Amino acid sequence: MSGESPSEKSQTAPETDRGSVPDDPIVGIDLGTTNSLVAFADAAGPRILDLDRGADEGVPSSETGLVPSVVRYRGDAVEAVGRRAAAGLEEHATRTVFSVKRYMGRRFDDRRDDAEASPYQVVSGARGLAGVEIDGRVRSPEEISADLLAHLRDRASEALGVPVRRAVVTVPAYFDDAQRQATRDAGRIAGIDVVRILNEPTAAALAYGIGGRGDAETIVVYDLGGGTFDVTVLEVMPADPSSPDGEAIFRVLATAGDTHLGGDDFDRVLVGNLHEAAMGEPDPERRARRLAVLRAVGARAKVALSDAAATRIRLDGRGLVPDLDRTLDRSDFETAARPLVDRTLDACARALKDAGLERASIDRVVLVGGSTRMPMIRKAVESWFDRPAYVALDPDRVIALGAAVQGSILAGTRRDALLLDVIPLSLGLETAGGAVAKLVVRNTMVPTRSVEMFSTSVDGQLNVGLHVVQGEREMVADCRSLARFELRGLPPMPAGIPQIEVVFNVDANGVLGVDAVERRSGRRARVQVVPSNGLTREEVDRIEADSVTHARDDMMVHRVVDLAVNAALDVKWITEALDRVRGDVDPEVVASVESGLVALRSLITRAREDPRSVDPDAFHAAKDHLDRASMPVHEASIARSLRNDESTDA
Ligand code: AMP
Repeated sequence: MSGESPSEKSQTAPETDRGSVPDDPIVGIDLGTTNSLVAFADAAGPRILDLDRGADEGVPSSETGLVPSVVRYRGDAVEAVGRRAAAGLEEHATRTVFSVKRYMGRRFDDRRDDAEASPYQVVSGARGLAGVEIDGRVRSPEEISADLLAHLRDRASEALGVPVRRAVVTVPAYFDDAQRQATRDAGRIAGIDVVRILNEPTAAALAYGIGGRGDAETIVVYDLGGGTFDVTVLEVMPADPSSPDGEAIFRVLATAGDTHLGGDDFDRVLVGNLHEAAMGEPDPERRARRLAVLRAVGARAKVALSDAAATRIRLDGRGLVPDLDRTLDRSDFETAARPLVDRTLDACARALKDAGLERASIDRVVLVGGSTRMPMIRKAVESWFDRPAYVALDPDRVIALGAAVQGSILAGTRRDALLLDVIPLSLGLETAGGAVAKLVVRNTMVPTRSVEMFSTSVDGQLNVGLHVVQGEREMVADCRSLARFELRGLPPMPAGIPQIEVVFNVDANGVLGVDAVERRSGRRARVQVVPSNGLTREEVDRIEADSVTHARDDMMVHRVVDLAVNAALDVKWITEALDRVRGDVDPEVVASVESGLVALRSLITRAREDPRSVDPDAFHAAKDHLDRASMPVHEASIARSLRNDESTDA
């Protein structure tokens, strides 16, 4: 195993995936408070549409497909939507509308607190409903959402290559009739036929394939987004297996949450008292800009702390806010934010109580929302529910994916993507030299579990990179990469000494959990993936056929790679021994060992560069030759250590 850094698998559509799109597709739209997404599902399963492709060079892949729910107006016109509008948030704070979802179908009086903290002007509009006033014109939240939806529809049409007219749109489970109607109206204004309003937690469950088979179950969806927290207890009655397009029944047993608790509050913890000071700014334009700047600084630091133990924030306040230069620790952040986390757990307790359930009767917990990427959230939820949470799908994208699944069910185009009674392709782990150790072989029935021990190949390795792959071939390069993660913080040990136990666990829905633990230090790491994501029956067949064609060749390569790994250790030990006893052995032996080392090293290098160019038998012979030539060296080395022992005894 190597020590490379992990990189996340993107769940975004590949560029070539237009073939199977019907004329009048039903897409899934997650109309989120912070970001919105569009997904589409066909027989290969749901995928996020890359809406801003080309339009925004340099957008990190982790953000592909996310369209900020932000619209900027000038006079009567829409000036910018999405990423471009979000980028101008600080500069055009009073004309840029974000988080409009908070105001959908709500009375101004019920949202007075939000309105007062808002950089843009929220007013009491028609019938006392909340509205947004910019350049003297008041728009309803429905109209603003419609501008966003129209943008999403246009981009989705480009991405799919056909006009998009129909959509499933998601809303929070607690949305009342007025809020649901406002969402429908937004679709109507945008010229979209909203074929169904779907509860967000139901969408999350659908994305994980929950409800497709098996027994009735109870699940909790914990959704911590940018501005809101929702927890929902759902009962799922599986689809009737006799009707192929039958829908599972999802019943909301209880919801709880907090409409004023989300990622923004964690941002605020990080900028602390600066926020209070900015709120005291009397000039509304300056106050708006100060708040927007601080919001951005806090958010950046928070995201950095999800990956790193510390981060430095530096800010040139441009006279608007004090200059900043501070280092922030994750542990300090976690302590300061603990009350926020506890509020989410209190809400979980309320939801369970309302549903009349105990924690132990919950079958699954699904995490949704960008803020669940904070390690403190996942830890807290898993420990509170005392079970691992479902995190395999990107928490920002899972709702849109589920909406697309619902869309495909309604369109009647959904064949069950892949039968998940068995593992369609083998699952394994990358080992030294780029070979694959298969832990679960294809056609194993699910659920299934498999355990194997691994170790390190480099002395003093502190981090071990684990790479989970899928496929039938022997080398990683010929398999599909599913996930990478790292086991960090091992105490330094010689190569081969750490005992790394790796467990592959595939549940009844085909979700793979991989756990790695180093036995001596107790260090652990975990990753979860959905191996069937984006796989079609055709692809499975092709991969299988490929493996047969390459079987012989692959075995040779695998053998060469293993030989190279072993030979590298031999070379190391023999070189060390030779250095110790060079003066004790015949010069001819030294010469013969040295030439053997040169020969073997060059084969190892070639094997690493191109294992197919090395004949395994010749490799084996070179290794044997060196082993024989170095016998006198080993003997001298043993003799020397005996002498040393005697002299220390004396
Ligand atoms: P959502 O409304 O689900 O899109 O969630 C957006 C929220 O997730 C924002 O508050 C983001 O700052 C937050 N978020 C996104 N990525 C991360 C991350 N890696 N760590 C912490 N928070 C994140």
